[in-house]
Amino acid sequence: MKGADWYTYSPPPDSNWNWRNICKGSHPPVPWYKDVWDSWTIPKHSVIGWLIQRKALNTRDKLFQFGISGSNCCVFCELDPETHAHLFSECTYSKQVISLIEHWLHMRFQTPPGNCSTIRRKVWRVVKLSCWYVLWMERNTCRIELKLRRPEMLVSEVQKIAMLRIQQKVSSLIQQLEISWLNSLGFNV
Ligand SMILES: [Zn+2]
Repeated sequence: MKGADWYTYSPPPDSNWNWRNICKGSHPPVPWYKDVWDSWTIPKHSVIGWLIQRKALNTRDKLFQFGISGSNCCVFCELDPETHAHLFSECTYSKQVISLIEHWLHMRFQTPPGNCSTIRRKVWRVVKLSCWYVLWMERNTCRIELKLRRPEMLVSEVQKIAMLRIQQKVSSLIQQLEISWLNSLGFNV
């Protein structure tokens, strides 16, 4: 999959059933395609983001329906059914995390930033997908260990992950610009 074009990608015949099904179901292209599969986003975050957009994660509402889980309740708030919409936007706990992220980023979390630079949009994608990933990991830990961290701690984790990724991408951009070579020619950029 690495480096392949999603639109023309066909999964190898020996790939697992779930993956083949995800690929098969990916047409026609959806508006959020670019926000999930961006060259700046972390691949494992993109996979989770893609599954969230397709409501394909094994959330408790589904597990309960299939008799796998004894409860359909959200592990964060223990009040409402754990659906994708609840877990990643409506839950009070997730809302606190998202609100802190929005405050830090000065951007709305759910909708892509309007008229802004490519770089800002890429940063928004990295942060949003990191946040979704950290929320999903927290949900899985909480389900097993019955412990939930304060929203501030999740935000701090998202910031660390996103900053590291963005620093890597920015330094690779600078390398691509060949600044030292340009300066050796006297451009002084
Ligand atoms: Zn909840």
